Order: sequence, then structure tokens, then C-alpha cells
Amino acid sequence: MIRCTAARVDLRALEANFRAVASYLEREARLNRGAGRGPVLPPGIIAVVKANAYGHGARRVAQALEAAGAIMLAVADIEEGVDLRASGVRAPILVFGALSVSDLDGVFDHTLTPTISSPASGAALQAAAEARRTSLHYHLKIDTGMNRLGFRHDNLRRTLPPLLASANLVLDAVHTHFGTADEPGHALFAGQRDRFEQACGVIDELGADPCLRHAANSAALLRDSRVWYDFVRPGLLLYGLVPPPLGSTVPLQPVMSLTSRVVAVKGVRTGECVGYGGRFCAERATTVAVIPAGYADGLDRRLEGRGFVLIRGRRAPIVGGVSMDMLTADVTDIDAVGPGDEVVLLGSQGSEPQQTIDAREMAAWIGTIPYEVLCRLGSRVERKYD
Ligand SMILES: *Cc1c(COP(=O)(O)O)cnc(C)c1O
Repeated sequence: MIRCTAARVDLRALEANFRAVASYLEREARLNRGAGRGPVLPPGIIAVVKANAYGHGARRVAQALEAAGAIMLAVADIEEGVDLRASGVRAPILVFGALSVSDLDGVFDHTLTPTISSPASGAALQAAAEARRTSLHYHLKIDTGMNRLGFRHDNLRRTLPPLLASANLVLDAVHTHFGTADEPGHALFAGQRDRFEQACGVIDELGADPCLRHAANSAALLRDSRVWYDFVRPGLLLYGLVPPPLGSTVPLQPVMSLTSRVVAVKGVRTGECVGYGGRFCAERATTVAVIPAGYADGLDRRLEGRGFVLIRGRRAPIVGGVSMDMLTADVTDIDAVGPGDEVVLLGSQGSEPQQTIDAREMAAWIGTIPYEVLCRLGSRVERKYD
């Protein structure tokens, strides 16, 4: 049995996006070589698959990205990493998030690479590694101005020596994260870049073996090749979307589409209203299509009066309240809409520009970012892979 509201995850598009990002990095590095500036070697790609691969399904996505050549995969927490190992992923897996002391076993039992972002988590991991008589490779996170996780950039000489002296811990890489990579005019970006480079200098002076560096999410990767360092960490680009408001010439295709079918068509008389709250009232004889997809499937209630769906190749405005399991669209101007007609919520229904809706456009309708649109796709929506 399958519901008619289903997501299609196009793994070939995912692989093509991975290759497009890799070719972009190679091409830019070649241009840098010619111009005698910036990095002349393309960085490796750490493919970010946290949050169930931005809603696409972490297991299948991780396997595809591993096969496509990702050097490493990255997840938010240990549990996500353990799940990928259970599905057979062999590539190194970096855990971005803070480690709570109770769940460290997963790091050892499933060969995950933790990020150490505080003296306390360093001490806990050292103790755990020592108790197991093993050594553990880790990445070190520096907070260069986002003020979230990481060792503060400005007192590393005081905070790092105990960690660097940990007998059972091996530093593989140092990283930071940008707070404003997708805000072109924002000064914090360059400030973070400078602080990261200074921090790496201090870490060298403290006697750490020359270690690898990474910092760039999708937006930073597109924006400034000086922050590529040894690895870049794209997420959104791999799923086929450019972080707004940036533009890019990298040829990407959205990986996820979301479709449903019309289950009922209702004639509404002038003056009658549709749905919870009665907010949409017909000003003319109106035909409404009922679509079995609602906020439980991840469709935001703010789509009411703002968003569209595609039916018969045309845009039908979402009218009336988005309910838990249904939404309604005005199809008065579209001929012969009937039960069973395909509805595209995300994706294409023809080759004209207005026949495509992507997560970036949907996000703009409701005042959020495409990341949230993708991650919120409901758990009851079946993902079909091809
Ligand atoms: C989520 C995340 C990324 C990927 O961000 P995108 O904008 O999707 O490319 C990179 N690094 C860290 C630390 C992250 O948390």
C-alpha cells in the first residue's frame, strides 16, 4: 500500500550534483593556478547528511555519496552516525554536534570521528579511550565568532594544551563554521576567516602535528575559495539548491520532488468559504481541488494564500487553511481537473519555468529557508528512490 503523497529522491541527480560541485572546485582551482592566487588544489568533499540527509533519507543518500567519492560524511550526532554504520556505510563519519558524556560508546563501537568542541568533552573522550586502551581520531572545533560550539579562538594557548597532550587522542583536523556565509555584505565572514587562520597558527605553535583544516559550508564554498582549505562541507548544494540569496552557475538539480493526487473536486458558490477558519471565501463560482497532503506531511500552514501547486501543468493557488492531512487549491481557471490528477508540490510538471516549484521558492513564500522546507518533510511521506 502506498499513499498518493510521496517524495521521489533522485539519486542520480544527487550524484550529478556531487560531480558538479567537484568539477566546480577543480575548475576554480585551475583558474587560481593560472592567476597565481588562492588555493591551487581542489579540496576534498565532506558530504553533509545530517538530519536524515536534509529529509531525503540518510541511509540511501549516504551510500550514494560514498559511491560518488565523498571523502567523509558528516552527521549532527552520534545516533545519526550509528544509523549510517548500521546501513553499511564504510566511509569516515564526522559528528558535528556536542557530545554528551553518556553516549560516547557509539563513537568507539561504530568508528565515528567526533568533533571536540570543549575541554570537558576532550577530557571525557580521553578517559573513555584510555579505559578502552585504544586511540581515537578527532576533529577540533574552533569558535571564531558564531558563539555556538567550539573552543574560543582567543584563548587557545590556555585551553588547548591539555587536549593536545591527551595520550589517546589524535588530532586529524581543525574546523570552524561561518555564521554569515550566505550574507554577502556581512563583515563577520572575513573576520571569522582571519580568526580561523590565526587560530590555526596558534595550534601549529602549540606543537600539534600539521593538521588538516575545513570551514566552508555551501555558501562559503561558492563565495570564497580562500576558505576551502583541505576539505569543504557542502550540504544544500548536494541536494540541488543554492543557499539564498546567492546565485551560482554550478549546474544543480533538486534531488527531491513531492507529488500527490487530487482526491476530490468541489464546486463552491459565491460567498461560501473553504476550510478551517473560513478565511477563503469565494468571490465567484469557484472550483477547489482537495489534495491529501497537509502540515503533518511538512507543508507549512503559512502556504495558505501564498503558495501554489502544479496541476495539469498550471499553477493553482493554495486557498483555505492547510490542515493536518489536506490542503485545497483553487483550480477554477484550469480546465477539467478531476480526481486522480497528479499534483506537484515540489518539482516540475513541464519544461516552462512556471512549471517548476523548488524548495527555495516554497521557502520564500512562507518566509523561511529551503533547509527548513526539506528537513520538515513528514515521516509518513514515503521516499521513493531512483
Ligand atoms: C549543516 C552544516 C554544514 C552544511 O551546510 P550547508 O549550508 O547545507 O552547505 C556544514 N558545516 C556544518 C558544521 C554544518 O552544521
